Amino acid sequence: MQSEMLCEFENLRAKSINLIKSAKEKGRKVVGKYCIYSPMEIVMAAGAIPIPLCSTKQDPIAVAEKVLPRNLCPLIKSSYGYAVSGVCPYFNLSDLLIAETTCDGKKKMYELLSKIKPLHLLQLPQKQDEEALQYWYGEIIKLKDRLEVELNVTITDQDLREAIQLLNEERRSLKDLQDIAKLKPSPISGVDLLMVLYNRGFSIDKEEAVLMVDRLTLELKELYSRGITSFNMKTPRILLTGVPVGIGSHKVVQIIEESGGNVVCFESCGGYKAVYDQVDEGKEPLLAIAEKYLRTPCSCMSPNIARFELVERLVDEFNVDGIVDLTWQACHTYNIESYSLKKYLQGKKNLSFLQIETDYSESDVEQLKVRIEAFLEMISIT
Ligand code: SF4
Ligand code: SF4
Repeated sequence: MQSEMLCEFENLRAKSINLIKSAKEKGRKVVGKYCIYSPMEIVMAAGAIPIPLCSTKQDPIAVAEKVLPRNLCPLIKSSYGYAVSGVCPYFNLSDLLIAETTCDGKKKMYELLSKIKPLHLLQLPQKQDEEALQYWYGEIIKLKDRLEVELNVTITDQDLREAIQLLNEERRSLKDLQDIAKLKPSPISGVDLLMVLYNRGFSIDKEEAVLMVDRLTLELKELYSRGITSFNMKTPRILLTGVPVGIGSHKVVQIIEESGGNVVCFESCGGYKAVYDQVDEGKEPLLAIAEKYLRTPCSCMSPNIARFELVERLVDEFNVDGIVDLTWQACHTYNIESYSLKKYLQGKKNLSFLQIETDYSESDVEQLKVRIEAFLEMISIT
């Protein structure tokens, strides 16, 4: 890939630590979050810096396993391991954590985290109807109240409206970037796209991050118009769905691309799922925030038909040849839902579907290569 902008994104994470430290020295507060159900608009409206803390690295898992069971999702163990080992600068810099009752493993882990740092737990309903919305709206109001007390600020409707506009703009830019991979062949690899989506989350200047993402999108359009890409018209185009992935937990994405495929769409949390839907700017701000976030199609919702419909739509929009449904070990909700997703798609799309259950370690890389190579070969001959 020949994009200059990609280098800027590669350096973004390292740069942001110093920027966060100096912002803190000037009095800004930092709020850590673990999940895309956390409404960052309210954190921004409070004048604080939101930071993602959901970990993607294998290193801290051994420390976590001294307390947590080994048979637990690596994302939960890794996030906890970073928190207790004291080596994660982002966790150390956080003044408050926001968490939600999503899956069982996460919510029990949050009970332990709350002994280490102030933590606000949002009680997330597990259905998406009007009754659930009214309950969730109450939770969103409680979060605003807690942030006002904890950060010693007053959050006005105007603050909220400005934050909504800014984060809608951020979502728009991230969606435009991801939509670039609809071009055939795509001018960006899945690994590079993931790196950008992951690293820009650590940027503390949202306006600047929007401009950077827009510049990259333009640059990629330009590369496409000049026919510069690592892929060709026959490259199998893969949609990745399932659990969240980031840099450090991207081995499946890397193996797909080293085996001759191209991940053109990440339906999962760091990708399309987080940005395809906007907060309604015409409504009362906290209600509009509650509505948008409750619509998030995660497997902790029951039923979770919105995920199936989103995947179905993205298959067409991205001209996808195959679906890889990624499940972290011991993630029961995504693991069980994989069967239903496959069945749903079977009746509608003639597509190859591969479910992969793995963890953050490298122990199964060779096995994964064999399975993924066979999967891509099957796509190529059909
Ligand atoms: S998969 Fe669900 S619980 Fe996990 S980060 Fe995404 S929305 Fe949150
Ligand atoms: S991947 Fe599954 S088990 Fe892990 S945190 Fe997300 S929903 Fe929970």
